[in-house]
Amino acid sequence: MPVMELRGGIDLGGTKIEAIVVDADQKVLGSSRHPTPSSGGPEAVAAELVAAMQEACKAAGVESASLQGVGVGSPGVVDEATGTVSTARNLPDWEGSFELGPALSRELGTTATLGNDVQVATDAEFELGAGKPYQSLLGVMWGTGVGGGIVLDGKPWLGRGGAGEIGHVVVKIDGRRCPCGRRGCMEAYAGRAAMEARARSKHEDGTSTDLFKIMKDRGRTKLTSAVWAKALEREDKLATELIDEAIEALGAGIASAQNLLDVQAIVIGGGLGVRLGQPFVKRIRKAMEPHVFNTANWPDVLLAGLGDLGGALGAALLVSRRVEGTPAPVGETAG
Ligand SMILES: [Zn+2]
Repeated sequence: MPVMELRGGIDLGGTKIEAIVVDADQKVLGSSRHPTPSSGGPEAVAAELVAAMQEACKAAGVESASLQGVGVGSPGVVDEATGTVSTARNLPDWEGSFELGPALSRELGTTATLGNDVQVATDAEFELGAGKPYQSLLGVMWGTGVGGGIVLDGKPWLGRGGAGEIGHVVVKIDGRRCPCGRRGCMEAYAGRAAMEARARSKHEDGTSTDLFKIMKDRGRTKLTSAVWAKALEREDKLATELIDEAIEALGAGIASAQNLLDVQAIVIGGGLGVRLGQPFVKRIRKAMEPHVFNTANWPDVLLAGLGDLGGALGAALLVSRRVEGTPAPVGETAG
C-alpha cells in the first residue's frame, strides 16, 4: 500500500499558503500555492488550506483521505495537543483561539498535525537543508514577520513554548512601533508587514515610489516579496531605503542572538530571505560585523537550502514523527 506512505505538508504564511504531497523520501509529488485570505477570519483561512491541500493531492493523483496525515506549520501560538492556533497576528482577524487541527482533519479525512511555522521550517533546514552538517543552528525566517527557530545539541530548543522570538529582540530603545505593539523590535524594521505599513505612510505623505504600482501591475493587494525584489531591481529609492534599514536591524538582532547562543550556523529563510537570496545573506552577515562579540569564531551564515518549500517539507515531517511515534520536537509550542 504505497499510497499510505504519502504525507501532506502545508506552510501557512501571512501572504501565501503552500501545500505539498511528499513520499517517504520527501520527494514532492504534487504542490499548490494559494494567497492567504486577507479577511474572513480563521474559517476563511481553514477553507483555503483545505482547497490548497486538495489541489496538491489532485496533482499527486491521490485522495486526501488516503494520506498518512497532513502536517501544518502555522503562525501564532500553536497547541499541538488540541490543534488550536491562538493570536496569529499575521493572519486575518485571528486574535482568539481556533481549532484548526480538528477542522482540517474533518475536511481532509485524515489526521492533521500542527506545529509552529518557524520551528517547522528550521527543523526542515536542520534535517534536510542547509543546516544538515551542524549540531546547533539558528533559523531566521524573514517574511511577513521575522521568526526564529533554535536547534541546540541536535534538539530544537522551544523554551517553555515561547523561545525563538528573534523578531522581538530590541534593536533600538524607544524605536519604531512593532506590529506586536512594543517599540524598537527587529521586526518593526525588518518584517515585511511593518515595512509595507511604513512604505504606505511614506507614500501617502508624498514620497514617490514604484512599490504600489508594481503591486497593482501584478494584481496583488500586498507588497509581496516579489514586489520588493522588483522594486530593488529598479533601484526604487524608498524600497532600497527600507530594505537597507531592514538589513541593519537583522544584522544587529541576529548578532545579539549569536552572542547569547554561539551556534555553529545561522540559516536565513522565509519569503523575503529566499526571494532576495544569497547577495542579501551576505549583506546581513556584513551588517552583523559591528555587533558580533566572538570575532575569532564566526558562525556560518547561510541561505536556506530548501527554498520556498522548506516550511511545507518541515510540516510533512511532523506527520512522520507522529506516525513513527517519536516525540515531535517541533510544534509543541503551547504556552
Ligand atoms: Zn515586536
